[in-house]
Amino acid sequence: MTARDAAVAAFTHLTDDAPGGVWSAPGRANLIGEHTDYNDGFVLPVAIGQRTYAALGRRTDRIVRVASTFADDAVDVRLDEVPALFDSPADRQRVPEWARYPLGVAWAALRVAGADPRELCGLDIVFASDVPVGAGLSSSAAIEGAAASALNDAWGLGLSPLDLARIGRAAENEAVGAPTGIMDQVASIMGRADAAIFLDCRTLETASVDLGFAAAGLELLVIDTRVQHSHANGGYRERRASCEAGAAGMGVGALRDLSVDDLPRAERVLDDVTLRRVRHIVTENQRVLDTVRALRERGPRAIGELLVASHASMRDDFEISVPELDAAVESALAAGAIGARMTGGGFGGAAIALVPADLARQVTDAVGLAFEDRGFIAPLVFPLVPSAGARREA
Ligand code: ADP
Ligand code: MG
Repeated sequence: MTARDAAVAAFTHLTDDAPGGVWSAPGRANLIGEHTDYNDGFVLPVAIGQRTYAALGRRTDRIVRVASTFADDAVDVRLDEVPALFDSPADRQRVPEWARYPLGVAWAALRVAGADPRELCGLDIVFASDVPVGAGLSSSAAIEGAAASALNDAWGLGLSPLDLARIGRAAENEAVGAPTGIMDQVASIMGRADAAIFLDCRTLETASVDLGFAAAGLELLVIDTRVQHSHANGGYRERRASCEAGAAGMGVGALRDLSVDDLPRAERVLDDVTLRRVRHIVTENQRVLDTVRALRERGPRAIGELLVASHASMRDDFEISVPELDAAVESALAAGAIGARMTGGGFGGAAIALVPADLARQVTDAVGLAFEDRGFIAPLVFPLVPSAGARREA
C-alpha cells in the first residue's frame, strides 16, 4: 500500500468516513551548503520523492484530533486551547512528542495568520509517510509541511509558501524544541521536480535551479549509513558556538560576511580550531555559489568536484564526518561516482553520490562491499528523485 493510500485508510478507520482532502509534503536532502544556514549563508537543498501525506476531514464539534500510522493513539485538543498550546516550554509535556509537530504547526499557523479559533472548525488529520525517519532526510519537515498546507487550505488562512515554511520552523523550534534553521521547511514546501532550491538564509530569498540529472544520464544516490546521529546535539551546539566565536573574532555579525579573501587574516587572528571551523563555512558558502553557477552554465556533470571538496572540508576542517560517511564517499567515488559528500548535520546519517545512471548498480554494490569489509552495518542505498514540494493531492 502506498503512503497516500495508508493515510486515507487510517483516516477512514479512525472516523468511519472518507477524508475531505489529502495534502502531502516531501522530505529533503541537501545537495550542498552544510552548517551554512545558521551563519546567514547559502544552501541548495532538494525535495525528495518520499512524502508525508495528511488526510483531513472537518468535524462538527470544536476538537482538533491528529493521528499517525507511526503512533498508537490519536491525540485531541480543544480548538480554543490551540492558541496557547506551546506558549511555554513546560506546556510541551502535555502533548506526546510526535503530535508536537502537527499541533505545533496548528499553534504557529493561528499566530502567524492572526486567526481567531472561534471562527474555525474542528478537524481530524491523519498522517502516513514513506520518508525514512531519523535518516537526515527531514521527516520532521515533511510532517510539518503536510500539516501546514492542509491547515492553510482547510481553515482558509491565506498563508504564503514562505509563511508555511516559517510556521514549520516555529513548530520545530518552539513546540518540539529542536533548534534548527529554515532550510528543511523551505525545501519541503517550495521544492520543484528536477530542481534544487537556492536559499539565502539571511534574506530568505529563494530561486529554483534546474538540475537536469536524468537528461545528463546521471542519478543521485542516497547512501543511508544507518548510523544514528547520537552525538549530533552536542556536536551541533559546539559547532554553532565555534562559528559565533569566529564571527566575533573577525569582527563580523555572521560568517556570511566573510569571503575567501578574508581567510589569510583569519589565519592570523583565530586559534587553529576556530580557524578551521570558519574556513569550512566560508569556503562552503563559495561552493554553493559555484554549484549554482555550474548547474546553470555548464550542467550537472560540472558539480562533481564541488561535492568532493565539500566533503573534504566537512571531514578535515569542520570535523563532522564519521568513518561510515567517509567510507560511503570514498567507495562511491572509487566505483565511478562523479561526486559524493555527506549530507545533513553530520555525525551519522546519509551521504549522497552523483553517478552515471549506468554505474548506479556498480556503485551501490561497491558501497555495500566497503561497509562489509569494515564491519559496518549494511547501508541503505536508493535513488533520490528531486520532486515537487507541498501540494494538495485530492
Ligand atoms: P528527521 O527529520 O531527520 O527524520 P527528526 O528527529 O527531526 O528526524 O524528526 C523525526 C520525528 O518526527 C519522529 O520521531 C516523529 O516524532 C516525527 N514524525 C515524522 N514523521 C512522522 C509521521 N509520519 N507521523 C508521526 N510523527 C512523525
Ligand atoms: Mg528533522
